[in-house]
Amino acid sequence: MVQSSVLGFPRLGKLRDLKKATEAYWGGKISRDDLLAEGKRLRAEHWKLQQASGLDNIPSNDFAFYDQFLDHHQLFGTIPERYSKYNLHPLDEYFAMGRGHQKDGVDVPALEMVKWFDSNYHIVKPALQENQQFKLNANPKPVAEFKEALELGIKTVPVIVGPVTFLALAKADRGQNVDPIDLLEGLLPVYADLLKQLKAAGAEKVQIDEPVLVLDISPKVKAAFKPAYEKIGNLGAAAPKITVATYFGDIVHNIDVLSAIQNVDAVHVDLVRNPEQLDTVLGALGPNQTLSAGVVDGRNIWKTDFKAAIEKVEAAVQKLGKDRVVVATSSSLLHVPHTLESEKKLDAEVRDWFSFAVEKLKEVVIISKAVSEGPASVAAELEANAKSMQSRATSKRTNDPAVKARQAAVTEADHNRKSDFPTRIALQTKDIKLPLFPTTTIGSFPQTQEIRIQRNKFTKGEITPEEYEKFIEKEIQAVVKLQEDLDLDVLVHGEPERNDMVQYFGERLSGYVFTTHAWVQSYGSRAVRPPIIVGDISRPAPMTVKESAYAVSITKKPMKGMLTGPITCLRWSFPRDDVHQSVQAQQLALALRDEVIDLEKAGVKVIQVDEPALREGLPLRTGSARDAYVKWAVNAFKLSTAGVTDSTQVHSHFCYSEFQDFFHAIAALDTDVLSIENSKSDAKLLQVFVDQSFPAHIGPGVYDIHSPRVPSVDEIKERIEQMLKYLKPEQLWINPDCGLKTRTTEQTIGQLTSLVEAAKFYRQKY
Ligand code: GLN
Ligand code: ZN
Repeated sequence: MVQSSVLGFPRLGKLRDLKKATEAYWGGKISRDDLLAEGKRLRAEHWKLQQASGLDNIPSNDFAFYDQFLDHHQLFGTIPERYSKYNLHPLDEYFAMGRGHQKDGVDVPALEMVKWFDSNYHIVKPALQENQQFKLNANPKPVAEFKEALELGIKTVPVIVGPVTFLALAKADRGQNVDPIDLLEGLLPVYADLLKQLKAAGAEKVQIDEPVLVLDISPKVKAAFKPAYEKIGNLGAAAPKITVATYFGDIVHNIDVLSAIQNVDAVHVDLVRNPEQLDTVLGALGPNQTLSAGVVDGRNIWKTDFKAAIEKVEAAVQKLGKDRVVVATSSSLLHVPHTLESEKKLDAEVRDWFSFAVEKLKEVVIISKAVSEGPASVAAELEANAKSMQSRATSKRTNDPAVKARQAAVTEADHNRKSDFPTRIALQTKDIKLPLFPTTTIGSFPQTQEIRIQRNKFTKGEITPEEYEKFIEKEIQAVVKLQEDLDLDVLVHGEPERNDMVQYFGERLSGYVFTTHAWVQSYGSRAVRPPIIVGDISRPAPMTVKESAYAVSITKKPMKGMLTGPITCLRWSFPRDDVHQSVQAQQLALALRDEVIDLEKAGVKVIQVDEPALREGLPLRTGSARDAYVKWAVNAFKLSTAGVTDSTQVHSHFCYSEFQDFFHAIAALDTDVLSIENSKSDAKLLQVFVDQSFPAHIGPGVYDIHSPRVPSVDEIKERIEQMLKYLKPEQLWINPDCGLKTRTTEQTIGQLTSLVEAAKFYRQKY
């Protein structure tokens, strides 16, 4: 029979329970035991939900208090000495690696975080040593969680990051000179040990994730699969049956790797993103291998088209037979919200088009049943599904002729500023009057408890719009005053009115719907609630002008307006899957263009359009798809910003600094000032700006805003010193890595005081 599988389940809980508990623990409000108990409760609840839906293969070890990848650092004993030397409780050591720790004489920054493939989830990167020893944890989490589920009567499939993926995504620790993949041999015995322990505990199957197979991997990484799976695939009855899982792309370009892993039981592929890979994969499977067919989208919230999904699965069954095909989600469901059930306010028409994690469990089961037992066994479900598909395809909500007409009228000239950068910057310098090494922040200031309370009251109608507006103005006053006291140069209004940088815009644009509980984990305890693009997008009214204009009115210093760019709006929303993303991006760009022009009219001379998601949208592999993306994405950004006069300064912001392979796209945006992450990366990465003679101004972040720790003035001076090896003094801005909304006011004051003092030191010096 065709079985059903889910590759991973969201762990936050129905009401972001995990976020609340971890933050309460960090804040000293609940004990460690309380937090551990809450984790256990959530795991049990999620396993039971999956069991109740009739799913055959239920994942475990997909839970994590911070990040499942970070769990593996502890599992394999790859904890850098700067953390292990404090002998913290394992849970605190874990959080120290994830978010830094500055308490009780311990002062250590976080490990580097990177985006998980092209998603908005972040993993914590392993930092390995030249002489790295691997050692299986004394109480391996996958084993413990397997047993925990077993006690509830649920035999789960533990999910483990594969050895090749773990090493391929790791880096050499600071000052270490090692290519992590060279450490493979030392790591394999740990896997063998782990698999044996899982088997001894009763596990029959494990899922080993090797998503790097969808990337352009180096020959060395590719060659690692053979020895890796010889070792762990040949344990026979001593180990559970292994499914090697890939997702977020196709594996056709690495198809020869399948011959190196023929001793594993099953291979999972993503047939939502790349249905066309099916034939190639079917042709390359070993004679007894099973195909896990990912046909239910783990990355988006649209209801699965059962007819299309069943066709894909049946094509596999034709070739392999029912016992060698599994119906699965395309990837872990980590990337979709918990349940549609929590959405009480959604319009019934669109609600019928959606499916969140809990609903997707049922979809997987229904599809497997349809194939196993024939369509008649689920006739009612198939009929209802066909109706939903039909309703969405023909709905008036998806089509706005005015938007289409405006798109048709866009010209090439609409994408370009009037003059080139040297001309613009000369005008701007005169107009805005900035010192050398201008200081600024990236936009948000701490989102205090009070802000959340007032916003909540406003949402619930407990205070009037006027009262809320007064409150926001008071917040803006406070933030402006704070920045004046700190003596920053280009001020911001602090974004107190914004819950989230994309959701806020989604709520003000037509073509979007938004949810009340549809949270998705981004990193650690941070979750976002992506709005959903359901139809053609337009801007019914200005979105940010009121707040920015108010901020301009209360200070003499230059005030920066703050918008989220078209690509980030697109990427951090759930996009439509019925219209190409370039079309959605251009619609967003036109709406933002109107906003940029309105800000300029309101006296805002510096406008920052954030595009932190520009890069994650890049197709994972090089080639024509990537080139096409860069073209339409850059055009969308330019279309949104090019409507202003030369003397208005356009900034953009990116939360990363690795521009080596992406430089041409960044340069093509033609911004006046670029702020980027740099405090956690090597200043050497700035070399690319030198090599490519980047003309515009750059503000590489001088401290890490994800961490509560306060850097000293000397630490920041040291960063600036490094940056000046690469950038010209007249080109360098001094700013943090990103927005400050997750920090406390106290931390922010400490951090920015150091920043301003360091900037002034260099201003004196030059
Ligand atoms: N302007 C936003 C802020 O400061 C930018 C956030 C981001 O880049 N992720 O919060
Ligand atoms: Zn950022």
